[in-house]
Amino acid sequence: MTVGHIINGKPVPGTSGRHGNVYDPASGQVTKQVALASQAEVSAAIAAAADAFPGWAATPPARRAKVMFRLKQLVEEHAAELAALVTAEHGKVLSDAMGSIARALEIVDFACGIPQLLKGEHSDSVGTGIDSYTLRQPLGVCVGITPFNFPAMVPMWMFPLAVSCGNTFVLKPSERNPSAPMRIAELAIEAGLPPGVLNVVNGDKEAVDALISSPRVAAVSFVGSTPIAEYIHRTASAHGKRVQALGGAKNHAVVMPDADLDQAADALMGAAYGSAGERCMAISVGVAVGDEVADALVAKLVERLARLRVLPGTDPKAEMGPLVTKEHLARVRGYVDAGVKEGAKLVVDGRALAVPGAKDGFFMGGCLFDRVTPEMKIYREEIFGPVLSIVRVPNVERALQLINVHEYGNGTAIFTRDGDVAREFVSRVQAGMVGVNVPIPVPVGYHSFGGWKRSLFGDHSIYGAEGVHFYTRLKTVTSRWPSAVSKGPEFVFPTMK
Ligand code: NAD
Repeated sequence: MTVGHIINGKPVPGTSGRHGNVYDPASGQVTKQVALASQAEVSAAIAAAADAFPGWAATPPARRAKVMFRLKQLVEEHAAELAALVTAEHGKVLSDAMGSIARALEIVDFACGIPQLLKGEHSDSVGTGIDSYTLRQPLGVCVGITPFNFPAMVPMWMFPLAVSCGNTFVLKPSERNPSAPMRIAELAIEAGLPPGVLNVVNGDKEAVDALISSPRVAAVSFVGSTPIAEYIHRTASAHGKRVQALGGAKNHAVVMPDADLDQAADALMGAAYGSAGERCMAISVGVAVGDEVADALVAKLVERLARLRVLPGTDPKAEMGPLVTKEHLARVRGYVDAGVKEGAKLVVDGRALAVPGAKDGFFMGGCLFDRVTPEMKIYREEIFGPVLSIVRVPNVERALQLINVHEYGNGTAIFTRDGDVAREFVSRVQAGMVGVNVPIPVPVGYHSFGGWKRSLFGDHSIYGAEGVHFYTRLKTVTSRWPSAVSKGPEFVFPTMK
């Protein structure tokens, strides 16, 4: 079977003659092909979105919201089916995939309130007989380019809000796992999005380049790795588009001596090894404050890693599934090799793990490094796999320094019982999302998600109020009626007398 595209409300097969393989990471087998769109196919999707824009933008927000209420219901009804598609092509554990659908629904919930969110401000009598008010108007055709690690959730961070604001949308999902986003788009169309309002083109760099350079595209939302985020931001900005480009991460969790170490160890296990570490909010660095904390924490992690159940994501006993592709598995193993060479202490080595009955699956076990130092490649770079590095520091000041000079600033967390320390940490840390005794502080749908430094390029975080601002432009109207108009021309700058 080949996954095609959705253009102007209809499924269409790919015509470029190019396609990619889609794998089941647990078996290592190719299960589907995905069509890779040509520039002409991308142009057709953009044209459909551009044609649909005037009518959709003029549709009252309350009517657009009704489609979101229906979409919410449909996604809830199909949650298990969507989660199964995520697991089949990403590999993550089914319950984790269900969690990502639940988090995605928060954005649809938020979009259901779009009439309230689009309300402007009004000032009566800014001058004699003069009133001012604001409008938030849609931009036009918006584009979403999404990563492999949340094939259902990240597209839903984008299009529900974009279309609720009155824009039309072209989604370019990750070519590694296209089935879940295609199914979601079908559900959105079933929910009542008119033809052309939401289009999906599958593809690779060729499709992306056509999307971000098209003069008919107004805005680009991107989530993926930092080099590509930077490229998208630079190129799409040069083509005059509004851009939000969310990139990679290296999230640190600081463990203070007064923390409940069992709680912290449990939290680190989930945050480092959940979804095989393939989360932009995964904790990949544990910063232990003091050697005593480090020794105890490492001992607790070793004990827990020995019990970590690495199995196909469909197995109800699974806690961690395979990595997404064979190439990515080799890359992550390569990082572990590099860490050993650089002199970090590999306390738990998961490189050779074999999963019974799944010898061709892309599996490895959880790895734990102790005594990692800031010059090491495994500390500096995003590994995006089940590898946790422990860095030892003498005090919280040094922990803050480490985080604040790191190139990434997506999320971070501190484990402590001391309110003063936590408050100081929250205030001074250079990261966009901060957890206090919360390992993965992904903001709820009515707040906004976004990192700092090289974890986000552009000016707006994604979803929540920032999302509404990203997908709309502000218009401010100053009006007066003939009875308030003075006689004769005025040549001085208006002062609203
Ligand atoms: P990726 O950057 O390889 O791909 C993301 C998208 O860009 C895909 O749709 C892909 O087709 C496209 N793409 C890839 N190479 C391209 C190129 N040369 N030119 C144009 N387009 C290209 O990312 P990935 O491997 O799919 O996802 C993992 C990365 O995403 C990690 O770095 C992770 O931290 C990051 N991520 C970040 C967030 C966040 O919110 N900050 C969320 C999820 C994932």
